[in-house]
Amino acid sequence: MADIILNRLAKVYPGGVRALSDLDLTVRDGEFFALLGPSGCGKSTLLRTLAGLEEATGGSVHIAGQDVTALPPGDRDIAMVFQDYALFPHMTVHENIAYPLKIKKVGKGERAAKARETADELGLGHLGERRPGQLSGGQQQRAALARAMACHPRVFLFDEPLSNLDARMRLEARTFLKKLQRELGVTTVFVTHDQAEALAMADRVAVMESGALRQVGTPTEVFRRP
Ligand code: ADP
Ligand code: ADP
Repeated sequence: MADIILNRLAKVYPGGVRALSDLDLTVRDGEFFALLGPSGCGKSTLLRTLAGLEEATGGSVHIAGQDVTALPPGDRDIAMVFQDYALFPHMTVHENIAYPLKIKKVGKGERAAKARETADELGLGHLGERRPGQLSGGQQQRAALARAMACHPRVFLFDEPLSNLDARMRLEARTFLKKLQRELGVTTVFVTHDQAEALAMADRVAVMESGALRQVGTPTEVFRRP
C-alpha cells in the first residue's frame, strides 16, 4: 500500500520564501493525482520535497506507512521524471536506463538485461545505443520514463513531463502514461498547468495557490463551474 501522507508539510527556502505552508494531503495507493496551479505556487517544490531533493522545514511525509521525511532520495522507493527529462547526454539510452540500477548496486549483467527489457517495453528497443541528443522529444520522454520504471518504484513523480512535446505527441503520451500507470498500479503525482491534461488523466486533482492547497477532489468536482 503505497499511500503518500503529508502532515503539515512546510518548506521555507533560505532567504525566507515560504513555498509550502503546512500541507495536509493523502494520495491513495495506486491513485493518479494531478497537481495544478499557477507558476510559482509551489508545485515543483512539493514534488522535490516528496522525492527528497529538497529538505522539508516542517511537518512530515509518510510513504507506505514509513516516515521518509529525513530519508535521502535513493532510499524512498520513488522515481521522478523531470520536465526537461534530465537524461545524461554522454550516456546511451541503455546506459541511462541502467544508471539507477547501478546506484542500487544491481550487478552488471542483470542491469543490462533489465535496461533492454524496459527499453523494449517502451518501444525504444531499436534506439538503445543512441544518445539523448539523437532522439526526438517523444523518444527522450520515453527514455526518461524507462529510466524511472527500471527500478520498479512504488511511487512516480512527474514534473510536467509532457510540456515539451508537440500537441499530437502530447495526446499520445497522455494515453500511454495513463495505461502504463494503470497496468503497473503505481501511485502517481503529476504536476501540470493544463486543466485538460488533469481532466483526461487524473483520479483526483489538487489546485495549489501560494504554497497552499485551495481545492482537492475529483476533476469533475474541482472543474465544475460554480
Ligand atoms: P511552481 O513549480 O508552482 O512554479 P516552485 O515550487 O518552483 O513553483 O516555486 C515556489 C516558490 O518558491 C516561488 O516563489 C519560487 O520563486 C520559490 N523557489 C523555488 N525554488 C527556490 C529556491 N531554490 N530558492 C529560493 N526560492 C525558491
Ligand atoms: P518551474 O516553474 O517549472 O517550477 P522554475 O523555472 O520556477 O521551474 O525553476 C527552475 C529552477 O530554479 C528550480 O530548480 C527551482 O528550484 C529554481 N528556482 C526557482 N525560483 C527560484 C528562486 N527564487 N531562487 C532560487 N532558485 C529558484
